[in-house]
Amino acid sequence: MKKLSSLLLSFLLISSFSYSQNQEAQKEQRKPGHVDISKFRQLKQELPTPNSQHTASGAPGSEYSQQQVDYVMNITIDEQEQKLYGDEVITYHNNSKDNLEYLWVQLDQNVRAPDSKTQDAQQTAMRGAMRSAQSFTSTYLKEPFAGGFYLEYVKDANDKDLSYTVNSTMMRINLDKPLASGEKYVFKIKWWYLINDYIKEKENGGVARSGYEHFPKDGNNLYVIAQFFPRLAVYDNVEGWQNMQFWGRSEFALEFGNYEVNITVPADHILNATGKLLNPKEVLTKEQYSRLQIAKKTYDKPVVIVNQSEAEAAEKGHTTKTKTWKFYAEKVRDIGIATSRKFIWDGMAVNINGNTVMAYSLYPKEGNPLWEEHSTRAVATTLKVYSKYTFDYPYHKAISVHARRQGMEYPQICWNYGRPNEDGTYSDRVKYGMLGVIIHEVGHNFFPMIVNSDERQWTWMDEGINSFVQIMAQLEYDPNFNIRRGLPKGIVRYMSMDQDRLSPIMTQGDHVYNFGSNAYAKPAAGLYMLRNTIMGPELFDYAFRTYSKRWMFKHPTPADFFRSMEDASAMDLDWFWRGWFYTTDYNDVGVKEVKKYYVTDQPTKTAKAQAERYGMDLDSYKEQLIYFASEDEIDDPKNMKKIKDLNFFNDFINSLYAKEKNNLKEEHNYFYEVTFDKPGGLVLPLIVELTYEDGKKERKIYPAEIWNKHDEEVKKVYDTAKEIINIVVDPDEETADIDTTNNSWPKKTEENQFEKFKKQLKN
Ligand SMILES: [Zn+2]
Repeated sequence: MKKLSSLLLSFLLISSFSYSQNQEAQKEQRKPGHVDISKFRQLKQELPTPNSQHTASGAPGSEYSQQQVDYVMNITIDEQEQKLYGDEVITYHNNSKDNLEYLWVQLDQNVRAPDSKTQDAQQTAMRGAMRSAQSFTSTYLKEPFAGGFYLEYVKDANDKDLSYTVNSTMMRINLDKPLASGEKYVFKIKWWYLINDYIKEKENGGVARSGYEHFPKDGNNLYVIAQFFPRLAVYDNVEGWQNMQFWGRSEFALEFGNYEVNITVPADHILNATGKLLNPKEVLTKEQYSRLQIAKKTYDKPVVIVNQSEAEAAEKGHTTKTKTWKFYAEKVRDIGIATSRKFIWDGMAVNINGNTVMAYSLYPKEGNPLWEEHSTRAVATTLKVYSKYTFDYPYHKAISVHARRQGMEYPQICWNYGRPNEDGTYSDRVKYGMLGVIIHEVGHNFFPMIVNSDERQWTWMDEGINSFVQIMAQLEYDPNFNIRRGLPKGIVRYMSMDQDRLSPIMTQGDHVYNFGSNAYAKPAAGLYMLRNTIMGPELFDYAFRTYSKRWMFKHPTPADFFRSMEDASAMDLDWFWRGWFYTTDYNDVGVKEVKKYYVTDQPTKTAKAQAERYGMDLDSYKEQLIYFASEDEIDDPKNMKKIKDLNFFNDFINSLYAKEKNNLKEEHNYFYEVTFDKPGGLVLPLIVELTYEDGKKERKIYPAEIWNKHDEEVKKVYDTAKEIINIVVDPDEETADIDTTNNSWPKKTEENQFEKFKKQLKN
């Protein structure tokens, strides 16, 4: 085959002499002193310089360290006053190499203090009308909620008052002398705050992640309690002190530590929280305790530990006695508490690679029958699927708590919406909404509760990554799950929006317009594409597991994720991180032109003209040259030939040895030069589907690098035995192409939106 191909090559060389405008532009860029603006340049300027804590491979380095903060807390929830009282002894371990002049403590409840700047920072504008007297009252006539922490004392270990300064949601503890590297510091805080009615707060546009819901019918409350204690901010060599204010949206950055928590609530409450329950026999009836032991050995279905009739009886009690539930939690970054006398409790054992983990649910009767049927089972599936893609779930339990209008995660416990109608009926929307939120919030145990990224700064690192793994868990729970978020085609609408309303994923969450699309759906769709289209599941899964294991119980940054994914796969993905995470560019590719060529032994006009231009004597190659003529170049259809019609070609083939002949592919009679254009700014793999005259289809997947020297358009030649009748790019909508009207040849006559709409109406 060598002789033949060198002939072809010499001819093709002639035709590549003309410069396109694009090449001229690139020549311009190559002038001395030009800046490399290639979409494939490395992220050297964007990523932080690697160091011995966060290495160039994306792994924690030899000098990686993080602070540890341990808490011993006594918490009391006063249901009459709606107050939470607490005292805590904090032990702060300075594992860093630095001496610290002060400590920063987060006072998250201050976001709802009367003087909170969160409300001030919101625009208010007049509306044409208001829906109800209630909303008028709450907007214009109501005193602001007297939330926020009331600090009774801040003392050192010797009960000496400490000097401190509160700046909104952050408090600086002013140390007498710097806390030396390697030393620990013990101090104490006592506080209380008014617990918010989170339903009301949400109705007024708040984003309450904790509080209570009041049930007027039986007079009870359901408490989901979080951000309830003053807790340390993160100190590291990435942000220094992570003391960006809590504005209500961008979530939390927290250190790992061990917690001893005693929680006192009315004696007829059922309660659960982060950590191991240390005194089950004191807080449960004998019967409930023995049901709990059965649940711990039951792997196939949930076992009811506190049943509905017990919960309904408790609802009527309203005792004034109290009970203290004692928990110990190791290596957690936070604590969440759920308590109510309305709670039904069920649970089942889950086998995670030979280790038993408990899946639990707490829900009021209002959650049934949906919750008894699905909640604990969904928790179990989530733990299994996430463990498969990351690491074995290391905690002993995961709890799903029913809380209206909530979807919020804490270590080992989370709040989830999904309430049936009063008569117990529910729509598929409610059911799948509930399953989706449970899987999502339980999934957060992995990101960010264990792979402990900085949520205040990078929402996508927990929400985006979690929304991506969520898809696999949802499909495992129910293969017919209608995946609404995280698929590439689902992000098209967002990515085609007005650029003024878009922000790169790498934007701090408080400054983003479309929070859900930007921080959840787009990164999830990106990872989905990375796994299924760009890297393939084998390379992706190994690298993703590597990242997860490397940063288990540590604090990763975006660079650690980007670098680990490349380090473990040998794929340079800087172009993808750059385009998808650092810009708001969209993907749009199309089939611009298809030119069909035939072979002929007659010199074409083009060939003649080119030969003349370059001073080549075509006659001297006579009997050897194969000419390619486009359809419109052939004057006489007789001159359209198949390759076997050329005598000198057949002579050549006949001269080959039998073995060489066997190695030849099937005859290539048709030549298509296809021009793919790319009106979009992103570079992504180009997926092309060819359909042949016999209906057979062939898929070609070109790496994104196909665009590296041809950002606007690129050509590909298909030499085939059969005629191609159809060419489609991105046939399965896997690259978030925002305009598919240019994706086919021959061009499809698209139904316009109005026609589609009319059709929908008819159906
Ligand atoms: Zn989330």
